[in-house]
Amino acid sequence: MTARIIDGKAIAAELRTRVADEVARVKRDHALTPGLAVVLVGHDPASEVYVRSKHTQTQAAGMASFEHKLPEDVSQADLLALIARLNRDPLVHGILVQLPLPKSLHTETIINAIDPAKDVDGLHPNNAGRLAGGLAALSPCTPLGCIILTKSVYASLEGMNAIVIGRSNLVGRPLVQLLLNENATVTIAHSRSRDLPKLCAQADLVYAAVGRPEMVRGDWLKPGATVIDVGINRIAVPGGKPKLVGDVAFQEALNVAGAITPVPGGVGQMTVACLLVNTLRAACAIHGLPAPA
Ligand code: NDP
Repeated sequence: MTARIIDGKAIAAELRTRVADEVARVKRDHALTPGLAVVLVGHDPASEVYVRSKHTQTQAAGMASFEHKLPEDVSQADLLALIARLNRDPLVHGILVQLPLPKSLHTETIINAIDPAKDVDGLHPNNAGRLAGGLAALSPCTPLGCIILTKSVYASLEGMNAIVIGRSNLVGRPLVQLLLNENATVTIAHSRSRDLPKLCAQADLVYAAVGRPEMVRGDWLKPGATVIDVGINRIAVPGGKPKLVGDVAFQEALNVAGAITPVPGGVGQMTVACLLVNTLRAACAIHGLPAPA
């Protein structure tokens, strides 16, 4: 058996088209142009690539994109003042501070300063708490993307056994909550979990969000399982360019899984598309319009 490859690129493109159609509709019917402000501090090369891609895709969806590039040594007070301005700006409906921030800045304080209604990264404690309480919330983009990819395989996740490996605030924890909202039965694994292969063997749905190249082996998987690989790991190739691999040993898993996301071309593609979804949702909510479908 060879697993079906879940085409994150195509699914993300379709989602972006749906968002662009909705944006055109709210512009036409309500004179509302959703706006996303992205704040980048310093010159981390990976962050610069992500921010560029967010800018391009936001504009392509017909939204307004506001970029704020600040020097590496910006003070916490100046960054907080910018966030306060963006919180008040009626043209801005989503605010994203690109992480990681330089060590001189206190990430938690910065995230907490964002108006929860504009927190399109879903990291503000209000949104994390609402999600954990089963209430409507802006949820982190990567876990949202994982759910959409899974639903490209199964219309309903009800009663399925899922394992989420990783418990970060950015990926693992919110993903667990979203799976619970889908009525899946969820096991949460982390660095102190015992016998990960045995835990994986029971799972119909495997989500790997660890940051360890190819840690999840093919023989850990239940035959036919759906595998969503969140990991993005850059590994050296002797004499060649570094290569991107996920947290799952892809070639091994192909022979056991029923469906699997590739790296690249899987979850990564969905993250920015879901950021557009969240910005549109935030804009509609702020203006008292119904949530887009
Ligand atoms: P974190 O480092 O914040 O969290 C990693 C998690 O993995 C922790 O909960 C940790 O456990 C757990 N872990 C570490 N080692 C093991 C192990 N040996 N066995 C089981 N669990 C382990 O990472 P993130 O959640 O931010 O990211 C995870 C991966 O996803 C990374 O590769 C990152 O690059 C990628 N990523 C991809 C995105 C995308 O758009 N595709 C977006 C965001 C992240 P503990 O809590 O006990 O320390």
